[in-house]
Amino acid sequence: MALIVQKYGGTSVGDIDRIKNVARRCIAAQAAGNDVVVVVSAMSGETNRLLKLVSQITDRPSEREQDVVVATGEQVSIGLVAMAIQSQGGQATSFMGHQVQIVTDSTFSKARIKRIDAEKIVEALKQKHIVVVAGFQGQDEQGNVTTLGRGGSDTTAVALAAALKADACEIYTDVDGVYTTDPNVCPAARKLDRISYEEMLDLASLGAKVLQIRSVEFAMKYKVPLWVKSSFTDDPGTLVCEEDKSMENVVVSGIAYDKNEAKLAINGVPDTPGVAAKIFGALDSQNIVVDLIVQTASREGRTDLSFTVGKTDLPKARETVERVAKEIHAGGVETDGEVAKVSIVGVGMRNHSGVAAKMFQVLASEGINIQLISTSEIKVTCLIHSKYTELAVRALHTAFGLDKAPAAS
Ligand code: ADP
Ligand code: ASP
Ligand code: MG
Repeated sequence: MALIVQKYGGTSVGDIDRIKNVARRCIAAQAAGNDVVVVVSAMSGETNRLLKLVSQITDRPSEREQDVVVATGEQVSIGLVAMAIQSQGGQATSFMGHQVQIVTDSTFSKARIKRIDAEKIVEALKQKHIVVVAGFQGQDEQGNVTTLGRGGSDTTAVALAAALKADACEIYTDVDGVYTTDPNVCPAARKLDRISYEEMLDLASLGAKVLQIRSVEFAMKYKVPLWVKSSFTDDPGTLVCEEDKSMENVVVSGIAYDKNEAKLAINGVPDTPGVAAKIFGALDSQNIVVDLIVQTASREGRTDLSFTVGKTDLPKARETVERVAKEIHAGGVETDGEVAKVSIVGVGMRNHSGVAAKMFQVLASEGINIQLISTSEIKVTCLIHSKYTELAVRALHTAFGLDKAPAAS
C-alpha cells in the first residue's frame, strides 16, 4: 500500500464543480489502494481578495494580523473538499495547519516550516479517512497563525510528503506539467517529461510559479518524487527528480520570468569597508529578501549600488535604505517598479561557453536594454523593463531551440 500526497491549487478548487472533481480524484486514488493526504489552496482569487481587504485598511499592515486574515481562504476549501468527499460516499477529515501541527518560525507572511507533528494525520489514515490539510498555513512556537508565502501550499504538500515518508507527492494545477517556459506566455513552450531538482529550483527561484521554491528545496533535500500534473486531465505530467546523464545534453532547458521585483539604486555610496554590510544588514533586520545586487566601479571614492527586492517589500525597503543612505552620507535613492527578471536555466551550461553572450545578443536584436545581470553555473538572469517581458521570453525560447515543432497541418 502506498501513501500519496496530492495538492490541488486555487484553480483546481475554483468552484463547486471543481471541488467535486477533486473529491472524485481523491476517492479514485484511495480506491486504487493508496492512503491519501490531500492539501488544498484557497479557491482561486480568494487570497488576492483577502489581501485587498487588508490593503483597504492600511498599506503598512501588521504582518501578524495580515496572516490571520489571509490564512482563512484555505479553511473554507478544506471544509468544502472534505464534505464533497463525504457526500460522494468517502470518509474524510479536514485539518488546519495548527491542528496537524505544522510548526513554523515567526516570519509572518513568509514563514519557514520547522517541523511537522503528523500524529493526527497518521491516526485518521489508519481509520481509512482521506485527510484534507489546509495548505499555506502554520503556527509558530507561540501559537500565532503564520503563512508560508504566495504559492505556499506546494510547500505544505512536499513537507508533509517528506514528514510522512510518502511514496509520491503530486501537485495538481491548471497546466499539465512543467514546460520549457510559462505556456500561458509562450505558445511554443514544450512540456518536459522530467526535470532535475536543481533546474526546477532555479526555474522556481527565477519566477516560474508552477512550484513554490521552498517546495522544491524540500523535495530535493528529502528526495521526494515530485510530480506536476493537471487536475483536469489524466496526462502523466512532469517528474521532478535527480539529474541523469541525458539531461546534460541540453544547454538551456528552461526560461523563467518574474515581474514581482522592484529595483532600488543608491547613488554616490562611499567606497569604504563596512558600507554594504550596513545597507544589507539593515534590510535583513526588516526581513527583506534582496535578490540581484550590482555595484559599479569606484569613481573618486564613490560607487553606485543597485539591487532588487520583492515588489511588496518596496515601501519598507525604500524607507530603510533612505535612512541608511543619510547615515553613510550617500547620494539619492531611486526606485523602479517597472522591471522584470528574465532568466535562462540549464545544467548543460556548465560545459558550454557563449551562452550568456548569446542571451545578450538576442535581447539586443529585439532592442531590449539590460539593466542588471547575474550569472551562476547553470543560469543567466537579466533585469529588463517589464513591458518587454513576453517579447524577451519568446525570443529567447526560439533562439535557444526550445520551441516545439509546429503542429502538422
Ligand atoms: P496553482 O493555483 O495550481 O498553484 P499556479 O498559478 O500557482 O497554480 O501555477 C501554475 C501556473 O504557473 C501556470 O498556469 C503557468 O502560467 C505558470 N508557469 C510559469 N512557468 C511555468 C512553467 N515553466 N511550466 C508550467 N507552468 C508555468
Ligand atoms: N492561497 C495561497 C496563494 O494564493 C497559497 C497557494 O495557493 O499555494 O498564494
Ligand atoms: Mg501555486
